[in-house]
Amino acid sequence: MVIQNLSVLEEVHICPDCDTKMICCEAPPVHVGDGLGWGSEVLFICLNDDCPTFSGGWDKVEVNYGHKATFRSMQLPGSKEQNVMMVASKIAFTGSIIDPDEMRAQHDRYKIEQEAIAALDTCVENKDLSPVLTLILDESAKSEARERAIMLLVQLNDLSCIDAIRNHTFRKTEYDQKCNMVITKLLKDNFQKECPYCAELIKAQAKKCMHCKAEL
Ligand SMILES: [Zn+2]
Ligand SMILES: [Zn+2]
Repeated sequence: MVIQNLSVLEEVHICPDCDTKMICCEAPPVHVGDGLGWGSEVLFICLNDDCPTFSGGWDKVEVNYGHKATFRSMQLPGSKEQNVMMVASKIAFTGSIIDPDEMRAQHDRYKIEQEAIAALDTCVENKDLSPVLTLILDESAKSEARERAIMLLVQLNDLSCIDAIRNHTFRKTEYDQKCNMVITKLLKDNFQKECPYCAELIKAQAKKCMHCKAEL
């Protein structure tokens, strides 16, 4: 998840029931039709197990609803209004705690990805390899964008992409294979090959590597 409004990460919410800091958590997915959406990407939830809302809630739910659950004290971003939400266990929400630093990093990565995608349309005329490499080497980027970027390598015809790609470990072998095909074509188009000993680019017809002097 990437939250759009990073300013919520600066907010401090203190639980009015136990005076402890409420934790910024991802809002649970909205079920269409039940009207329970909070209209927010994140919620501030008191995860203190000694909070009276939580510890005292088990009996209240048992008596009123006849099942095993309790409440967590909760506030929406930008508001100090107290809400409660029903939880069935201690660990509800512990899996959706937001790490602000990680969220900021993800947000930055997402922004760079979006800028690179926007630059794809003009990268060939601008002879600009950087947005293409940004997307190919970003394992979190959208697959459509990465595939489009790989195909653009042929038109860009810039052999300096080879080192960057060779030094990257792709999580999906599919991208490895596609990049290999493109590199093979680029080398062929430019009458070059990679020396099998030192990996430097040399003329396709060379019998001896000009870099490492190996006999081919
Ligand atoms: Zn509390
Ligand atoms: Zn060599």
